Amino acid sequence: MKNTPERTCIACHKKGDKRDFVRIVKTSEGQIVLDKTGKLNGRGAYVCASEECIRLCKKTHALNRAFKQDVSDEIYDKLASEV
Ligand SMILES: [Zn+2]
Repeated sequence: MKNTPERTCIACHKKGDKRDFVRIVKTSEGQIVLDKTGKLNGRGAYVCASEECIRLCKKTHALNRAFKQDVSDEIYDKLASEV
């Protein structure tokens, strides 16, 4: 399926189907939120739904880079609780 959107993990840069990722969205209000439904509007970033990548994401502050702003530890901790 050529039209299946491919996502790239912001921690390990591996590509894959969006079902394998946790989506994080920056809303129009500039808030960073976890998007469990995959339907929120806004700029999205993806990280593999694996403990390893989420740990790596926190360690390297990959979300800060993805969204070009400070992302609180709370968000990283929430991510960690998703896997
Ligand atoms: Zn990954």
